[in-house]
Amino acid sequence: MGDDEEYAMTNDLSVPYLPTQLIIGGTGRDAASGATFEVTDPATGKVLSKVADATPEDGILALDSAAAAGAAWSRVPPRRRAEILHRVHDLLMERTDEFARLITLEMGKSLAESRTEVAYAAQFFRWFAAETVRIDGQWKVSEDGSARVLVMRQPVGPCLLITPWNVPLAMPARKIAPALAAGCTVVVKPAEETPLTTLKLAGVLAEAGTPDGVVNVIPTSRPAEVTGPLIRDDRLRKLSFTGSTEVGRILLAAASSRVLRTSLELGGNAPFLVCQDADVDAAVRGAITAKTRNIGEACVAANRFYVHAGVADEFVAKFTDRMRALRVGPGTAPETDLGPLINGRQRERVAALVDDAVRHGAQVLTGGVVPSGSGFFYPPTVLTDVSPAAAITREEIFGPVAAIQTFTDETEAVRQANDTEHGLVSYLYTRDLTRAVRLSEQLESGMVGLNRGLVSDASAPFGGVKQSGLGREGGNSGITEYLEEKYIAIDIPE
Ligand code: NAD
Repeated sequence: MGDDEEYAMTNDLSVPYLPTQLIIGGTGRDAASGATFEVTDPATGKVLSKVADATPEDGILALDSAAAAGAAWSRVPPRRRAEILHRVHDLLMERTDEFARLITLEMGKSLAESRTEVAYAAQFFRWFAAETVRIDGQWKVSEDGSARVLVMRQPVGPCLLITPWNVPLAMPARKIAPALAAGCTVVVKPAEETPLTTLKLAGVLAEAGTPDGVVNVIPTSRPAEVTGPLIRDDRLRKLSFTGSTEVGRILLAAASSRVLRTSLELGGNAPFLVCQDADVDAAVRGAITAKTRNIGEACVAANRFYVHAGVADEFVAKFTDRMRALRVGPGTAPETDLGPLINGRQRERVAALVDDAVRHGAQVLTGGVVPSGSGFFYPPTVLTDVSPAAAITREEIFGPVAAIQTFTDETEAVRQANDTEHGLVSYLYTRDLTRAVRLSEQLESGMVGLNRGLVSDASAPFGGVKQSGLGREGGNSGITEYLEEKYIAIDIPE
C-alpha cells in the first residue's frame, strides 16, 4: 500500500474538492510562476494538498480586479447585498460538515469544534446582512443656523484582509462580511498553513451571487513580498489584519507610509481571575472553555490564571481532573477533544515555555511531556506555583497549558493581570456585584468575560486595547471599520 492510499484510509478525506488555485476576478488560476506550496495535516504531518503560490504580480492582479469591481459593487442596492450575504450564511450552514472536515484536516481542531466554527462564521454573514440595510446618515442644522450638515457614509474602497491559521473560516468571515456589507471589494491573504478553507469560502461567496472581482484570494508562502506592494498601492484603501502583535507592528509601520486606514486584531495574554466568592464549579467550566477551545490556539485563550488562595485547592483539583480527562487525538476521530498543535515549531514553543516555567519552580500536575509518534500533539497541562518571572506569564502560550498562580490581595492580582503589553480579553469569576463591576472597569482589556469563559459573538464588538489591536470586529461598530463618513456643508443664507 502506497503512502497516499494509507493516508486516505486512515483519514476520511471525503471532501468533495480541495480548492488549490488563486481566485482572481472570479476565476481560479495558477500562480504566475506556476509555483505551489504544500498544506499539511497537523495530525499526521502529511501533505494534504498543494496550493498555487501567489507572486507579487498575482497580488497586483488581484488588486486590479478588486479595484475594477469596486464602483459597481458599491452601487449594488443594500437589499441585494443583504440577500447575497444571507445566502452565504445559508450555504455555510447547509455545508457545515464539508467545511468542518476541511477545517479539521488543515488546522487540526476536533470536528465538533470545527462545526462550531462554521456556525460562528455563518453568523457574521447573517449579522452583516442585517447591517447593510441600516447604514445611516445625518441631516441637521448647523450650530449657528447658517448651514445644513449632511453626513453620509460611503464604502472605504478596496481592502486587503490578512488572516491567521487558527480560525481559518471565521476570521476571514469576520472581515469579508462587513467589508461586502459596506460595499467594499476585497483581496484576502489567508495564512499559508490553512488556505484551503478560505478558498472554499470564496467558492460559496461566488455561488451566493457575489460578482466577479469582489472577493479575490491569494494564498502565498511569501506574505511580506506579496502584500508589501499592495500596501504601497494608492488604490488600496484599507488594511485589516488578524495575527500576531509582532507582524501587526510591521504592517502598521508599512501602512503609515500612506496613512492607510488599518484595523488590527492581534495577540492576547488573557488573565483569568477567580475571586474568593466565585462559584468554583462555574469557574472550572469557564476555565476549560477559555483554556482548551481551539486547542488553546486562540487569541482569547486564558493564558494566566490568578486564583484566590481561599478557593485555590478546590479550583485546581477540579480543573486538573477535567484537563486530565480530555482525550487527545486526530481531530477527525469522533472521540477527540483536543487535536494536534498546528506544526512542530509551535509545539516546540509550547514545550519550551513549560520547561522554562518548571525551571522557575512550577509544579506539573498533569501533562507537560511531548508524546512520541507522528502529528504535533501536546497533552493538556496544568502548572501551579508559576513564578511571575517565568516567560509563560508574558508570552502567548497558544497551547493547552494552564499556568496557575494564587493571590490574596485583589488589588495586586489586578495589577498583575494588567501587567502586560496585551489587552484583548480578561476573565473574571465573582458572585459579588460590586466587585464584578469594580474589577471589570479596572481590567485593561477590550473585552471581559464575567462569569463566562467565552466572549466571541457576532453581535458584540470584538477587539483589544494596548498592543492587542486597533478597531473592533462584529457588533454595531464592525461595519464602520469599512465606511468613511463624508460631511457635506450646505449653505443656507438667512
Ligand atoms: P502571524 O502574525 O504569524 O500571521 C498572520 C497572517 O499574517 C498570516 O496570513 C501570515 O501569512 C501573515 N504574515 C506574516 N508575516 C507577514 C508580513 N511580514 N507581512 C504580511 N503578512 C504577514 O500569526 P499566526 O501565527 O497566523 O496567528 C496566530 C496569532 O494571531 C496569535 O498571536 C493570535 O493571538 C492572533 N490572533 C488574534 C485574533 C484577534 O482577533 N485578536 C484572532 C485570531 C488570532
